[in-house]
Amino acid sequence: MTDCLFCKIRDGEIPSEIVYENEHVLAFNDINPVAPVHILIIPKIHISTLNDLEKDHTQTMGELILASKKIAELKGFSEDGYRTVFNCNENGQQTVFHIHLHLLGERLMSWPPG
Ligand code: 5GP
Ligand code: ZN
Repeated sequence: MTDCLFCKIRDGEIPSEIVYENEHVLAFNDINPVAPVHILIIPKIHISTLNDLEKDHTQTMGELILASKKIAELKGFSEDGYRTVFNCNENGQQTVFHIHLHLLGERLMSWPPG
């Protein structure tokens, strides 16, 4: 997709602080962190929202979650715990329409979320 912020980050057209990458996913620091560690993990293919998922995205979505586990290990907060979040559309407060998994760590989260 040509006019997508996260596709531009994937393509290196917009700079980001990349923390992890493999064939399927790219992970980079959120520009406006809400926790001491706040990383966004995106699929390398453009998918706008959770509502656009198809059966053949199963591996890609699994790779996002596996990447969150790996990054938590790399950052050293696996055992302390962490929060992963997908926001969808208006009520979910999604603002960038390229699916991304938020990985939040290094603080105690609250529940229910706001
Ligand atoms: P959403 O609200 O769609 O779930 O999350 C979008 C996230 O993208 C927000 O946490 C926001 O801070 C982050 N973000 C927006 N623009 C940029 C950017 O240009 N670079 C990076 N690294 N993060 C961004
Ligand atoms: Zn995109």
